[in-house]
Amino acid sequence: MSVFAPGYYGRFACIMDKCEHSCCYGWRLSLDDRTRDKYKSCTLAYGERLREFLGEDDEGGFIVTGSDMRCPHLDERGLCRVIIELGEEHLCDICREHPRFYNLTGDRIEVGIGASCPEAARIICSSRDYLPIMIEGHPVPELEVIEESVSTLELRSSIYKDMEKTSFDELEESLIKRLGISRAVLSSRMMEEILSGLEYIDEGDRKLMLRAVQEKKKLGDAELKRIFAYFIYRHLTDCTSEADCAARVGFALFSTRVVEKMSELTDSLDDALRMYSAEVEYSTENTDDAIMTIWAENI
Ligand code: SF4
Repeated sequence: MSVFAPGYYGRFACIMDKCEHSCCYGWRLSLDDRTRDKYKSCTLAYGERLREFLGEDDEGGFIVTGSDMRCPHLDERGLCRVIIELGEEHLCDICREHPRFYNLTGDRIEVGIGASCPEAARIICSSRDYLPIMIEGHPVPELEVIEESVSTLELRSSIYKDMEKTSFDELEESLIKRLGISRAVLSSRMMEEILSGLEYIDEGDRKLMLRAVQEKKKLGDAELKRIFAYFIYRHLTDCTSEADCAARVGFALFSTRVVEKMSELTDSLDDALRMYSAEVEYSTENTDDAIMTIWAENI
């Protein structure tokens, strides 16, 4: 099966101890079954420490963290002791793959880098080569086939073509008309309504995002297109119906415009995208809620 990725994908590398928003804290650190079993039976010296911080509940294995939610395997320099002591092959699937995401669509697998990682957000916001290209030699993960779904590759590639020819504002207008997306979705009122109904990891982020919807910030055309290209690549894959498809494009437009406004209040555009992605995209519930609200508004 062919594997595709945005042109910039190969430039991603974790910046480790230089990362200001490390993925090694703030989340539930779930372990896949293979890694949990490996940690349980590890006979190497560091095995004791692996077991000291190994928890299990109904959802499976996880790494036990303190109240600061910091991974106990991070050393004082911010480096991973599992890699230092045992090697990268002892990482669990999530740690090895983050921030990569995968989608199976049509007869291909698509991989990308998720913007909740600050280095990924920096690359996404600064790269012109966002169009998907075929890549060789990438490991192919097993992915679940979604039954009765329709590939949106044709629609997406027509959007990519239009992006080359028109401004982002014109593209947005034509998508609203062509797909029947409600214009209200991009209003401050709807942004506030959608964002205020979501769950947040950080109360400070929630306040900033709700304040941002009243901002009038205008980003440059190239920046808007890079952000929008990221959202449609990630969220416009297989859809269940035309209405689902329109809701997903609406979600990509909504997300791009919210990030635009947030960038007025954050240190940088990268940081606005990172924060939005961490709070909205990395919660399936939040993403689904936003898409469903947009779907209902389009009808
Ligand atoms: S968030 Fe990204 S750059 Fe930071 S530690 Fe994780 S993978 Fe590395």
